[in-house]
Amino acid sequence: MATRDHSIENLIERLNRLPGVGPKTAERLAFHLLRVAADEALGLARAIELARQAVKTCSRCFQLDACDPCAICADATRDQGMLLVVEDPREVARFEDVGYRGLYHVLQGRLSQLEGIRPEDLTTGALVARVAGGAFTEVCLATNPDLEGEGTARVLAEQLAPLGVRVTRLARGLPAGSSIAQVSSSILADAIEGRRPLS
Ligand SMILES: [Zn+2]
Repeated sequence: MATRDHSIENLIERLNRLPGVGPKTAERLAFHLLRVAADEALGLARAIELARQAVKTCSRCFQLDACDPCAICADATRDQGMLLVVEDPREVARFEDVGYRGLYHVLQGRLSQLEGIRPEDLTTGALVARVAGGAFTEVCLATNPDLEGEGTARVLAEQLAPLGVRVTRLARGLPAGSSIAQVSSSILADAIEGRRPLS
């Protein structure tokens, strides 16, 4: 079997580490990047570099922004008593679009026995500390309405229970197994509006 240059193998291997990119796609992308104009391929590398330099993780809510604390955490006009807990920074934009104006906490994932993701792999410790030290009147656990999202919400609710804060979940209008990234804005708006206590 012909051996390929190590640099090609390295590129394929790195692309293969990206979420949703299997070995075949990684190989196809790698050869695409080697075939297109150098400007095009290096432009991608530069774009990654620039975004990485410009974007920071907020030390309070763990979402991505150009500043730390992020623009949302720094905005005193928002409801400081309301905390919405989401899995992924991308979901913040969805809730912003449907008019939510409280604060956020990004877990950076969700608990998964299958993938070996434990509470300490997420920002759950920071969440508990934040709620314990803050003046939140409500914490809404807006993890996805699927098996792992529901499981994550249950574990978080147990951890938050001793703090005496009102813990809620998005309304059941969200189709089971769906994801917050995909549901329509009207369903998401209803889900926030109709959030229910989590017992
Ligand atoms: Zn923030």
